[in-house]
Amino acid sequence: MRPIGAKVTSLVALTTLIILLAFPSGAFTQPSESGRLTVIATHSILGDLVHNVAGDAVDLTTLVGPDGDTHTYEPVPADTIKVAEANLLFENGLGFETWLDDLYKASGSKAQRVVVSSQVVPLGFAGEGVPANEAPVASPAPGQELDPHFWQDVANSKSAVEVIRDALVAADPANAEVYQANATAYLKQLQQLDDDIVAKTASLPVDRRKLVTNHDAFGYFAYRYGYTIEGAALQSFSTEAADPSAQQLAALVTAIRETGVPAIFPESVEKADLIDRIAKEAGVKVGAALYSDALGQPGSDGDTYLKMMGHNIDAIVSALQ
Ligand code: ZN
Repeated sequence: MRPIGAKVTSLVALTTLIILLAFPSGAFTQPSESGRLTVIATHSILGDLVHNVAGDAVDLTTLVGPDGDTHTYEPVPADTIKVAEANLLFENGLGFETWLDDLYKASGSKAQRVVVSSQVVPLGFAGEGVPANEAPVASPAPGQELDPHFWQDVANSKSAVEVIRDALVAADPANAEVYQANATAYLKQLQQLDDDIVAKTASLPVDRRKLVTNHDAFGYFAYRYGYTIEGAALQSFSTEAADPSAQQLAALVTAIRETGVPAIFPESVEKADLIDRIAKEAGVKVGAALYSDALGQPGSDGDTYLKMMGHNIDAIVSALQ
């Protein structure tokens, strides 16, 4: 008689074999039992764009939720399972999700990856001497650091919505009409938002359209709507940057005084202490916190993309007026 351990071992082996036969490689890329596509968006703003196009036709999961900082996110084991089971994975691109390639690989996922910024002309540092101001980079060099915060220009979000729509239609043709109708309606709302930001900016005197924020997240906003970035507390596209040196802080305070910036802004995803200190030293107001890299919690005035952008323009115009 064989020892009982051997029986258990062969039972495990048999079970594994049955699972492998029942779920050959690639089985998880088929729609779930509900018949709906399983879709992932890497962060909350992107999740809202996808939700507006997909509606209830897909099972949508967002990895980095409201108030979450995608730059510094550390995936948890549950993320591996979510990514493994997905059919479609919408990602920001432009270096925002530094952790995604490893997560995708570790999960063994067969999900199709869709970079929603693929049609955006990225911005990057304009050069020495103007570190916080950005210009379009027509053909980025491999490894060149680009600004990932494309959604701060509503025109870019419209282009992302078109990419999302086309990917959903291709992956799930049975619901093509739903995705197309939802996208058309949402694109109209986005155009209205864009018009609102332009109109509200026009109410500000040109010499007051100046921004100082916590990290360098508003380059696309500034470039499209005609603001100048006078500096950022963390002089980086990422919140992972080290705190500024005393010398860098002094230079920023001087720039704020010399350029006549009326107010500076903290961000929802970061602590306001650094901005508070700089404002105190420069003798300027602190504006309401801007939604930079994530939606706000459900029920807040930034719990959708339309609302967060509406909050931001109102906060900017009110503090700089
Ligand atoms: Zn950021």
